[in-house]
Parts: sequence; C-alpha cells; structure tokens
Amino acid sequence: MPQSNYMSKNITIIGAGLVGSLLGIYLSKKGNKVTIYERRPDMRKASISAGRSINLALSDRGIKALEEVGIMDEIRKIAIPMHGRQMHLADGSKPFQPYGKEGQFINSVSRGELNCKLMDLAEQHDVTIFFNHRCDSIDWNNNHIQFTKTTDNSQSIVASDIIFGSDGAYSAARLAHQLQHDRFQYQQYYIDFGYKELLIPPGKDGSFLLDKNALHIWPRGNYMMIALPNMDGSFTCTLFFPFEGNPSFQTLDTKEKVQSFFESTFGDVCSLMPTLQEDFFNNPTSSLVTVKCFPWVRTDKFALIGDAAHAIVPFFGQGMNCGFEDCSVLNALIEKYNDDWTTILHEFQLSRKPDSDAIADLAINNFIEMRDKVADPKFLLQKKIEANVSKKYPGRWIPAYSQVTFSPHIRYSEALKNGSRQEKIMQEIMSMPGIENKWDKEEVEQMIIKKMDEQL
Ligand SMILES: Cc1cc2nc3c(=O)[nH]c(=O)nc-3n(C[C@H](O)[C@H](O)[C@H](O)COP(=O)(O)OP(=O)(O)OC[C@H]3O[C@@H](n4cnc5c(N)ncnc54)[C@H](O)[C@@H]3O)c2cc1C
Repeated sequence: MPQSNYMSKNITIIGAGLVGSLLGIYLSKKGNKVTIYERRPDMRKASISAGRSINLALSDRGIKALEEVGIMDEIRKIAIPMHGRQMHLADGSKPFQPYGKEGQFINSVSRGELNCKLMDLAEQHDVTIFFNHRCDSIDWNNNHIQFTKTTDNSQSIVASDIIFGSDGAYSAARLAHQLQHDRFQYQQYYIDFGYKELLIPPGKDGSFLLDKNALHIWPRGNYMMIALPNMDGSFTCTLFFPFEGNPSFQTLDTKEKVQSFFESTFGDVCSLMPTLQEDFFNNPTSSLVTVKCFPWVRTDKFALIGDAAHAIVPFFGQGMNCGFEDCSVLNALIEKYNDDWTTILHEFQLSRKPDSDAIADLAINNFIEMRDKVADPKFLLQKKIEANVSKKYPGRWIPAYSQVTFSPHIRYSEALKNGSRQEKIMQEIMSMPGIENKWDKEEVEQMIIKKMDEQL
C-alpha cells in the first residue's frame, strides 16, 4: 500500500538483474511509476547461457527482503536447502561441517530462474521493463539517460525524477557518475584467481549423484572447486583457480592435461563429469573483482545500488544477499522520511557504505578459509570449540559465519568487528598446550568466557 501523503515519483532503474528487479517491486509498491531498462534480451524468451544453470546461495538477509515484498513463497519453490559444507578432502575423507545450528541452512537457487521470477513479479506489480536497451550516458543537469536500442542501434532519451543504477559490477551508470562527479572515490581490485563453471549432470531418472542438501567443496590449498545442487538433479561446479603459475588456467591448455589433472586432483567426482573437457574449453574463464566507490548518490536524483555500488568476490555467498539488503534498507528509509529523497538517499549511502565495505573484506577472508583452512585439522578443531561455546552461550558467542549468514539483525560491519574479536580469543585458545585433548573440557570453556569478559 502506498504511504499516505507520499508524492509519487517517476523512477528509472538501469538494469533488470537480481537487484534492479527486486528494487522495482519495492518502489512500485510505494506508489511510484517505475520503469526498468535492461541491456540484454528478455531471458524469459531467450535461452539462458546455453542451457547452463548457474546457481547462487540465498541466505537470511536476502530472504528477509524477499519476504518483505511478499514473494519468498514463490522463490522457495525453486530453492534447495543446503545444511552444511560437504568436504571432499585430498586424502579421500569427507567430513561434513554444518553451517549453523540445527535447522539452519542456506539455499541453492538458479540465478536465471530467480531473475525470471523477479521480473515476472515486478511486472505483476506494474513495473514496466524495456529489454535490449543499453544505458550509454547520463545528462546530470536534466536527469536524462541516453539509451541505445541494441536491436537496431536507435537512440532514445529518457527523463526521470530519480535514477537508480543497478547495472552490476561493470556499471555504466557508475562510469557516468564517476567521470563527472568531483571527488568521486573509486577502487577496483582483481584477485589472481578466476573461475570456470563445470557440470555434474543428473543420474538416471533425475537423481542427484552427490548429497543434494549440501554445498560440496574440494579444498586443495591454493585453489578449490565447489558444487551446488540444481532442481533438475544436476550440480553446477565452480573451479576457483589461479590464472597463472602451476597448476593454473594457463598450464591446463590441452584436453589431456585437463583430464589427467582432474583425475589426480578431484578423483571422486571426475567420473561424474562426462562433459568435463568440452565444458572446460567451451565455458569462459571469468575474473573476480571487488569494487569500492563513494559517493553512491547525487542529491535527490540518483543512486547506485547492488553490485554497481559494491561488487564483492563470491566466497561468502553474499553479493546478491547484500544487494537485496540494500533494497530493504532503502525501503525502511522511505518509510521513515516519506518522500524526502535527499535525506533518504543520503542516509542510504551513509548506512550501507560501512556494511558493504565490511562484507567485501569478509568475502576475501573467506576465500582463504574455504580453499585452504577447511582442510586443516587445527581449523576444524577450532570450529568444533566455537560450536561448543556457541551452543552453551548462544547469546554471547555467534560464529562469524552465522552472524553474516543467519543474523540479518547484525550489520555486516558489526559481524566483521565481532568476528575479529572472537578470532583473537580463538588464536590464544588454539595455542594452549594439548588443546587437541582438552578442547571440550570446562577449563577451555572458562578461559574463553574470561577472555570474552576482558574484551567488554
Ligand atoms: C561466480 C559467482 C558466484 C556468486 N555466488 C553468489 C552467491 O552464492 N550468493 C550471493 O548472494 N551472491 C553471489 N554472487 C554475487 C551476485 O551474483 C551479485 O551480487 C548479484 O548478481 C548482483 O546483482 P545486481 O542486480 O546488482 O547485478 P547483476 O546481477 O550483474 O545485474 C545487472 C544487470 O544490469 C544489466 N546491465 C549492465 N549494463 C547495463 C547497461 N549499460 N544498460 C542497461 N542494463 C545494463 C545487466 O545485463 C544485468 O541484467 C556470485 C557472483 C559470482 C561472480
């Protein structure tokens, strides 16, 4: 229901990706006239990335936003719960590490299906979406956007009261903003690792060939592969691998080398990947970037949101969740300040910038944890001790992963601070002589409590 006394605005969103489509629903529900311009063709009519299913982990922050606009029941139908990490270690062992407490899980959802559903729901909420329209530039004096229609190269100018740039990590709206805004801070950082998507197809009758309700990880020190389940029984695998060095994307340059590398490194799944060699050479090798910038807004006229404002590496599974949380925070500010858009946008960037910076740093740290530490017995012991303390003192010790993933009431910036404090305590505990034998004893527990008290 639109707010009473709310002055409806003519709002243009650039990009009908995950965040733009959800934002459209929020803004239309407030009573605005919302139009989205998307560069790509309508993916509901065209085939999505040659039939491949790229999946994402949806967790509580994203779910909170989807529930707020009343569409989570629809999304749940296409989500597969994953209760923990199923490790596939080099020595052949397969320890399972639950993500949180009993009953807590994250969800595997197909990016394409989720995006299609969000666009359907946006249109049902009176949002108009124009496809094949690429934003080329913005005239800031008049708030006019110039679009090129990619099917015939014709150009058009669109006027709006407010513009949102939700056009992703390589945002054209950000570029337009950056080039013309005095004192615009901009930083982008590529890690030395890229990723490639591979496939484990379904077994006979659509059965899952690995445990369906887990996120599978093959940690191998300097690199790793993960696999998430799809509704059709397949798994999408992602190999996170160095661009250069040995081994790297550069050295795996023949089908024979790929096959032999996978057989020796990922022996337990290699036989489940019949199209490995084709997939490896046909699918792109993509890079991973972190983008930090500021400011995100211009008075009451323009804001960046989602990846366009803060692209992060995917190792915490939070990029989309963070973008959905942006929408939820913006909505709360509209409820607070009604149609005072200068204040809404100003508060939006002040509130979200520290949190998006924090999740960017947490995501980089989690890469090291996933590829390297999860196979380390000392790290696994540390996690066991933390789980023990958390079970006994649930209000005082929430593991950092749970703060980010299952605790939307805790801001990312607080999760980062709390996590660092806890890590400091755990480093001291792990250096106690004989910790392997006494990790579950009263003495260790009391030591942790004492150290927590000292930090107050
Ligand atoms: C390998 C990988 C795995 C990931 N896994 C997860 C995960 O498990 N969980 C999670 O929460 N996040 C994950 N993410 C992050 C997530 O994909 C992004 O955070 C999310 O897609 C951001 O949504 P967005 O709408 O801001 O941008 P996008 O999804 O990139 O959408 C941007 C849209 O804008 C359009 N566009 C671009 N330029 C223009 C233009 N000039 N004019 C008009 N339209 C334009 C694009 O076509 C696109 O539709 C992952 C990312 C990667 C790379």
